[in-house]
Amino acid sequence: MIVGGGDSAMEEANFLTRFATKVTIVHRRDSFRASKIMQDRTLNNPKIAVLWNSEITDIKDVVAGKVTGVVIRNTVTGEVTEQPIDGVFAAIGHDPNVSLVKELVTLDEKGYIKTIPGTSHTNVEGLFACGDVQDSRYRQAITAAGSGCMAALDVEKYLQEHHE
Ligand SMILES: Cc1cc2nc3c(=O)[nH]c(=O)nc-3n(C[C@H](O)[C@H](O)[C@H](O)COP(=O)(O)OP(=O)(O)OC[C@H]3O[C@@H](n4cnc5c(N)ncnc54)[C@H](O)[C@@H]3O)c2cc1C
Repeated sequence: MIVGGGDSAMEEANFLTRFATKVTIVHRRDSFRASKIMQDRTLNNPKIAVLWNSEITDIKDVVAGKVTGVVIRNTVTGEVTEQPIDGVFAAIGHDPNVSLVKELVTLDEKGYIKTIPGTSHTNVEGLFACGDVQDSRYRQAITAAGSGCMAALDVEKYLQEHHE
């Protein structure tokens, strides 16, 4: 069972069909937010079913120490049902992991570290940011690696200027 309705949920669901005989996506609304191509791929996959207007309110079984089922609430009717299941994967978005620096640097309105556009500089001298933690828009491996390179160059320049 996959929870979510975005590209991550579609990607995870399709990936899991390589190992599972059946994958169910649980989504709290009646349409996906994912890109059309990902939706098409998902909805055309015979191994994937969708539970629309549904949210998981409980995962069983804590006492047994493993996933045995879920409690599902219909967000429209309020009806509550229980369904046996072997595994649950949440794909409901990401929060940037800024706890280490959130008291130090300025964050943007989405909670990501704010950098001076086109650089890895933050508002704190000597503190640089790169990767997903400062990029709410793209969040891709290649853009993270690129901004990592930018940060490395910015740090090198900073050290040359301040520690010679
Ligand atoms: C399901 C999924 C599929 C994806 N598919 C793709 C794809 O197909 N193509 C693509 O380009 N991108 C994809 N991405 C995105 C890609 O994984 C990220 O953009 C990339 O990993 C970001 O790199 P990063 O170095 O910024 O962060 P991360 O890879 O998250 O690395 C951050 C590191 O910092 C460590 N860390 C955190 N806090 C601390 C701390 N306080 N002290 C020390 N270390 C700490 C973490 O443990 C982690 O190792 C996908 C992401 C997900 C979740």
